[in-house]
Amino acid sequence: MQIIHDFKIPVKKYSELGQNNNFPHPEECPHCHDKLLKHGFYHRYVITIDNQCFWIQIRRYKCQHCKKTVSILPAFLFPRFQRSLNYIVCCMKEYLLQKKLLLYKRAVYFYLHRFTCNIPGLIAFFRDKYHSLIPFKLSRIKKATKLIKMIWSSDAQILSKEYQDHFNQCFMAL
Ligand SMILES: [Zn+2]
Repeated sequence: MQIIHDFKIPVKKYSELGQNNNFPHPEECPHCHDKLLKHGFYHRYVITIDNQCFWIQIRRYKCQHCKKTVSILPAFLFPRFQRSLNYIVCCMKEYLLQKKLLLYKRAVYFYLHRFTCNIPGLIAFFRDKYHSLIPFKLSRIKKATKLIKMIWSSDAQILSKEYQDHFNQCFMAL
């Protein structure tokens, strides 16, 4: 399981700090509520919107009782995506708003497919959390355009974390 945490620092800084980032230690195991123990780190890459690639470390914990692991995913990432959240949101925004491709078409279409699968969840999320109503009868693509504008005009990372906390999955999940 992954817990999203906003470290409130840029990707570059997070990468430089490595294992010295200020990692939160969750109070209890999300599965069985027993104590979580530190369980090392794993490494991965992240590609930012300026096309830089960073090597980052992800903090991991393990439950002493049920043995499940929990990792702390920085809020600048979507779980299981290599490009940063801002990069992906920007690609979708550019395409939906002005048909501009920031990446090859297949990648942008893949992101849009994932995003449009989550339209019902996003509409419910904005309605419950922000009382913003999206007209029900709009086409799929118009709904997606409206939603991406709303996400882009606020802080996409904060929204994504709130969405994840609410539904226990990200708005790019299948
Ligand atoms: Zn547990």
